[in-house]
Amino acid sequence: MQKKMIDELMYIVGEEFISTRPDVLLAYSQTASMASDPVLPGAVIRPANTDQIAKTLRIATKYQVPVTARSGGSSLQEEAIPEPDGLVIELMRLNEIALHKELRSVTVGAGVTYGMLEKVLKEENLFVPVYPESALVCTIAGNVAVNGAGPGSSGFGCTGELVLGLEVVLPNGEVIQTGTEANPHASGPYQRYAFGPDITGLFIGSLGSFGIITKVSVKVFRRFKFFDHNTYGFDTHEQAENFIVDIKQHDINGIFTSLYEGAVLEFFMDMIGDELGIPQYEWPFRTVSMTIGRVREDQMRSDAALAKQLCLDNGGQVIGISELPKSEWEGRLWFFV
Ligand SMILES: Cc1cc2nc3c(=O)[nH]c(=O)nc-3n(C[C@H](O)[C@H](O)[C@H](O)COP(=O)(O)OP(=O)(O)OC[C@H]3O[C@@H](n4cnc5c(N)ncnc54)[C@H](O)[C@@H]3O)c2cc1C
Repeated sequence: MQKKMIDELMYIVGEEFISTRPDVLLAYSQTASMASDPVLPGAVIRPANTDQIAKTLRIATKYQVPVTARSGGSSLQEEAIPEPDGLVIELMRLNEIALHKELRSVTVGAGVTYGMLEKVLKEENLFVPVYPESALVCTIAGNVAVNGAGPGSSGFGCTGELVLGLEVVLPNGEVIQTGTEANPHASGPYQRYAFGPDITGLFIGSLGSFGIITKVSVKVFRRFKFFDHNTYGFDTHEQAENFIVDIKQHDINGIFTSLYEGAVLEFFMDMIGDELGIPQYEWPFRTVSMTIGRVREDQMRSDAALAKQLCLDNGGQVIGISELPKSEWEGRLWFFV
């Protein structure tokens, strides 16, 4: 990478936030994609805001240097591994969080992880219902860039479905805003769509190819207060599948649903069953482990009763072991933050 380009970048972010040191380059040559070979970039820059990112991209475009956006670095399929001698733009300094309580939405900077956001939302009795398992290190922007999914997706879909709008810096340095926030008269992020194409959707899952997401606005929900954790056993795969389809058809709020093969479940329970306090059990051919979550108790009770009935209607048996779904649900992010 040309020294002239480094000097120009240094002028934008300051000496402290750009590096060509071999140990720093080595650190950014790899991600959680451990099966892939590391690739050394030419420099790593850590801008503080949208303006610095726009200026950085203009310079990279001028010098025709390939750029890799990087936030948590937790992606598993080489997505954030840089190009040889390219420029890594690390986004973790963009860590502002703006809650729009009355709109049930939140706007986060590209460096905000799910763990950081959870701390703020918990205080307000709110939450983002879809989390990747890597939630403590992975950013919301990074998960939008890969259109991830995870716990909560069985009820709420992919991360992309929660997105209300994005601020994006295009490769030429132009900054665009999508969703209602593009309208200066709107009260904030509450709607992604308008007349015309879904511009937001262009960037969801685009792996940073079309621009760098600097801010993400997502929906937030009232935290579920009432839970039913239960397990349901089936003799055939079709019965178990039909049960899960029926759960959806009846609008039961199964927020964490897992379908286990008997032998696989036994294998895991031998390893960690005692640690999680899950009783010994002769698991059937297929087990569905499900957590139902609701804001109100009457909703939860009604969902739980209907789920039991649907299990029986599909030829299954209600196992009644709650510790497995409970540990799946509670064992995720909540414990750590
Ligand atoms: C233990 C473990 C468990 C995991 N579980 C899940 C899971 O349950 N669900 C799931 O979906 N994933 C999971 N992952 C994968 C990973 O966490 C996701 O891919 C995550 O979305 C990556 O986010 P990140 O912030 O780490 O982004 P990075 O790894 O830094 O980047 C990912 C991609 O997005 C691009 N990018 C990053 N930030 C931006 C931005 N601001 N603008 C534009 N492009 C950007 C990068 O260039 C790269 O292409 C898991 C990973 C690990 C290690």
